[in-house]
Amino acid sequence: MSETTHISPSNSSDTTAIVMSGIRPTGYLHLGNYFGAIRNYIKMQDEFTCYFMVADLHSLTTHPDTKSLKANVQRVLAENIACGLDPDKACLYCQSHVYETGELYLYLNMLAYLGELEKTVTFKEKARQHPDNVNAGLLTYPVLQTADIIMHRASLVPVGKDQEQHLEMARNFVKRFNHRYGEVFPEPQAFNYQQHLVKVPGLDGSGKMSKSENDMATLYFADDDELIRKKVMKAKTDSGPTAPNSIKPDYIENIFLLMKLVSASDVYEHYDKAFNEANIRYGDLKKQLAEDMIRFIAPIREKSTTILTDEKYLKGIMEKGAEMAGESAAKTMKLVREAIGLNYY
Ligand code: AMP
Repeated sequence: MSETTHISPSNSSDTTAIVMSGIRPTGYLHLGNYFGAIRNYIKMQDEFTCYFMVADLHSLTTHPDTKSLKANVQRVLAENIACGLDPDKACLYCQSHVYETGELYLYLNMLAYLGELEKTVTFKEKARQHPDNVNAGLLTYPVLQTADIIMHRASLVPVGKDQEQHLEMARNFVKRFNHRYGEVFPEPQAFNYQQHLVKVPGLDGSGKMSKSENDMATLYFADDDELIRKKVMKAKTDSGPTAPNSIKPDYIENIFLLMKLVSASDVYEHYDKAFNEANIRYGDLKKQLAEDMIRFIAPIREKSTTILTDEKYLKGIMEKGAEMAGESAAKTMKLVREAIGLNYY
């Protein structure tokens, strides 16, 4: 990863910078969403002007049953708020409520080339997984994402490592727009408070934790205590290191990584030392991790269940968010139309 692909606070002290990010309402929120994105949102809402969006239009690329969209959108909102997002500090809104997005997406599509879109890793993955649904929306996903980000002229985008390539594409589209029509947009950068963008691994020892891959390898905020225990206890291990100071295999490294995220540092160090002394019992490690996970997840689950019972509250948040995001979008689009030359009267 090059040094310039994301920024952390040391090289971003500009508190006037605008922050934007989104989460698709395609499933329950999980630990990867939290540590890759939401944890940063919560800190950023105190320092910057923030726009956080439920990316409901993005979710249409995979043809979900749209009857469940409303419930999914409400749930993502509730889960984000339960994690600590504050609608009084940040603008929380739904992508489909900002009608200008479709217009900006159209202009940007004229600046995006087939070759680069086809090379996008996420596009290639989705096309391989669903060869019967390789639609143009899927291909131009990074273009729509760019429209979402620059709609608020945002420059900081808190996302996980999986979004790195999309952000690079967003910068390319912005550079092309500015070059062709004049400087309208800042170049967006991926942001993380840590030194590196985060990738939370799955419990099966392969790839990242995600909504769609393997449910037993993903820890959701909706999981009950028993299910969390079951998932953690099923995580892949082996019979343990045969010599002191061995290198941890990937699947063991992943378990330690998860422990680092939710357990106390002395607990982590205890098990790390035991591993290095080739004297570790993985059963104990996983039991400890399961209990620490439960301590982390259960309060968020309970809070989001309570929020979900209050439809009026959620509707109020969406309306307030739509108004604020809509005002910002209208201002940007005025600049965009003028820059392009679409101002005839
Ligand atoms: P998605 O669930 O794909 O809409 O992603 C929402 C946000 O969560 C994005 O910023 C992703 O980068 C982040 N994210 C999703 N999965 C992970 C993961 N396993 N590790 C780190 N960040 C993640």
